[in-house]
Amino acid sequence: MKSLFDLSGKVNLVTGGSRGIGLAIAEGLAAAGGDVVIWDIDADRNTQALKQLEQHGTRVGAAPIDVTNELAVSQGVETVVGEFGRIDTLVANAGISKAVPSFLDLSIDTFRDVSAVNMEGWFLTVREVLKHMKERADQGDPGGAIIGQSSLQATHGSPGNEHYGATKGAVLAMIKGIAVEFGRYGIRANAIMPGFIKTDMNKRNHDNIALYEKVIKRMPIGRWGTPQDLAGLAVYLASDAACYHSGTAIELDGGYAAM
Ligand code: NAP
Repeated sequence: MKSLFDLSGKVNLVTGGSRGIGLAIAEGLAAAGGDVVIWDIDADRNTQALKQLEQHGTRVGAAPIDVTNELAVSQGVETVVGEFGRIDTLVANAGISKAVPSFLDLSIDTFRDVSAVNMEGWFLTVREVLKHMKERADQGDPGGAIIGQSSLQATHGSPGNEHYGATKGAVLAMIKGIAVEFGRYGIRANAIMPGFIKTDMNKRNHDNIALYEKVIKRMPIGRWGTPQDLAGLAVYLASDAACYHSGTAIELDGGYAAM
């Protein structure tokens, strides 16, 4: 009998998939038997990541696609569908963070840069994949999972990173709307809200003793999260085990939000 979390036969697209959380999720999806395509800006890093993904023995691919480029995104979706036959799961994960010392230092340029990737790029990717999923449903093959990478900062204030939190709040709002609009096509949409996950994105804080003593150590699971900590949740949301699970935002934060 097929395992509840078996992803064989499913094609999964992960944006921002060449490192950090995206790569760990891509590896988790491949380890669960899924075919995986990653998109990320840096072609060399994509090649490196692909080597890692190939070890799981499923079909894998990578493309140097910037999610803010509307044409590249629509052509990229066409290419994945052409080469892999379909897209069952999108992990819309690509994101950037440009924290500033204070909200008062926040320039309109920084505000727009972060919005361009985390909100507009997210929207473009999800829209193009949903077009494909709906078309497939119209042809009698419904189904699909959209996994939106939000953040705990969507609901928990982060000084100097209000603009980032705003983009992650936008992901929550869009995920809920999409879940309602596309449920009739068998498409599920859920958001993940990671807490403190140790990646290059926050490397300036890895050796921050005050942050460790005052926050990280005091959390119920008193350590930084690792990118691999996210993989199981993504596998679940992509799998048929989650067939009745839609429209939610799941905190994955070592219990931080419970305090
Ligand atoms: P990361 O290590 O910096 O990885 C993000 C990846 O996305 C990078 O490879 C980055 O490429 C890529 N990317 C950026 N802009 C892109 C674009 N326009 N098109 C395609 N790819 C793009 O960060 P991470 O920590 O793994 O974060 C992954 C996601 O989780 C992000 O959405 C982030 O906001 C979210 N998140 C992270 C944490 C955390 O604690 N780490 C917590 C909550 C949420 P470049 O580096 O070349 O720009």
